[in-house]
Amino acid sequence: MQTITHFINGRQDKGTADRSQPVFNPATGKAEKEVILATTQDVDSAVAAAKAAFPEWSKTPPLRRARILDRFKMMIWDRMDEIAAAVTAEHGKTFDDAKGEVTRALEVVEFATAAPTFLKSEFSENVGTGVDSFNVRQALGVVAGITPFNFPAMVPMWMFPVALACGNTFVLKPSERDPSASLLIAEWLKEAGLPDGVFNVVQGDKVAVDALLEHPDVKAISFVGSTPIAKYIYTTGTANGKRVQALGGAKNHMVIMPDADMDMAASALMGAAYGSAGERCMAISVAVPVGEKTADALVSKLKPMVEKLKVGPGMDSDSEMGPLVTRAHLDKVRSYVDAGVEAGADLVVDGRGYKVDKQGYEDGFFLGASLFDNVTPDMSIYRDEIFGPVLSVVRRDSYQDAVDLIHGHEYANGTAIFTRDGDTARAFQQDIEVGMVGVNVPIPVPMAFHSFGGWKASLFGDHAMHGMEGVRFFTRIKTTTQRWPTGQRTDPEFKMPTLG
Ligand code: NAD
Repeated sequence: MQTITHFINGRQDKGTADRSQPVFNPATGKAEKEVILATTQDVDSAVAAAKAAFPEWSKTPPLRRARILDRFKMMIWDRMDEIAAAVTAEHGKTFDDAKGEVTRALEVVEFATAAPTFLKSEFSENVGTGVDSFNVRQALGVVAGITPFNFPAMVPMWMFPVALACGNTFVLKPSERDPSASLLIAEWLKEAGLPDGVFNVVQGDKVAVDALLEHPDVKAISFVGSTPIAKYIYTTGTANGKRVQALGGAKNHMVIMPDADMDMAASALMGAAYGSAGERCMAISVAVPVGEKTADALVSKLKPMVEKLKVGPGMDSDSEMGPLVTRAHLDKVRSYVDAGVEAGADLVVDGRGYKVDKQGYEDGFFLGASLFDNVTPDMSIYRDEIFGPVLSVVRRDSYQDAVDLIHGHEYANGTAIFTRDGDTARAFQQDIEVGMVGVNVPIPVPMAFHSFGGWKASLFGDHAMHGMEGVRFFTRIKTTTQRWPTGQRTDPEFKMPTLG
């Protein structure tokens, strides 16, 4: 069985751990690899390597740093299938979806190659007589990224390309459920010319996370995961004097107005609710049709589409949705469907009995897609982030009721409105208290040169990910005010200048 190791100071490293855990292929339900779980000592080694690499890396010209990232980007383009297959094998999502993830990740690397431009500073001439002032953005030092299972390639790449481009050195603690992508990334960065120690990976769980949170040489923590852990990371990290951005969970609503293109809205909902088995922080898990007629039309369009959804192994090209990530998660999502039925919601499509009858996949963590109608805000299927293929329809009488519903939820990551009316769309965009908004776009994930981040319980900290927000998070400003005494100036010379 393959053992997935750390990557410290330019090489794979087994560290000192005597603990490991199995890594499952969710399609077969079998443990096919194991990942070692770091000790505090292993984290110390990774941070020490990153600290030793910092002085030289932070002084390397941004253009040279960018060129290494550019080579890395081209390698990923060429090896897209290899990393996407690793994601599918451990996460379960379809191969096409995994390639989509890697492509979105690459866009952040592309953004980071603009470091010489985005690190340009401001200069004010003559802030006083003969006095100039300028500021520079300098790297923080060793920074760490702690990432979730649902985007094992993309979420690390929301963080480290910008951090490295700005001159920091990095320690990544990926999800222990799908850790292989992190090692491919580390190997390829090295091959692209990244000096040893600049990018390190420690595999592990809470032990590794706590060691990073407490380490005096870690200057900043970038975290993405569930809200309870995000809160813990934010409070502990900041209490230890670190800069922290901690992105948490979500419950994203899509409002469907009576004038919406109903075919477009239903088709958008299918991808947004059930793509990646609903294991996306930008998945739409609540559809909010405005008016009974809109709701009836929407549910009758959705029902046959949900029933027909093809669930199967991620590597099968005809699968539209893969398995859930683990058996425990499968059980949890299924129990939410039970809870919805018990609470009195109408289960229009029941995914609980779904079986994949292909040989070799009988034990996979598959669940069919479920659709609930007449869900109310007091039900746990509405309140909690299920993170599975379960879509709830919450009917509302007016636009304002729909907005009030969204404002009443603790999460505020993403939202969308489907309408043909520009005035309603504009009002929604301006007034809604959610970090990322789509207008006739169901999953409004910002491009790499914009920034990604929710509001309320979906983000703790002051900066979103990547784009200029990422640059601000991974740098600190130094402002210099300077005056020079009048120097000796020589008389003009009229002969040809020579060095001798
Ligand atoms: P998770 O919170 O369980 O784990 C995230 C990371 O925290 C992992 O690296 C894990 O090892 C570590 N961790 C877990 N428990 C810990 C503990 N008790 N102490 C310290 N560290 C701990 O999240 P997950 O299940 O891997 O990912 C799914 C969650 O991530 C969902 O809630 C989803 O909404 C969220 N997510 C949010 C965004 C966003 O941008 N807001 C993006 C992707 C995923």
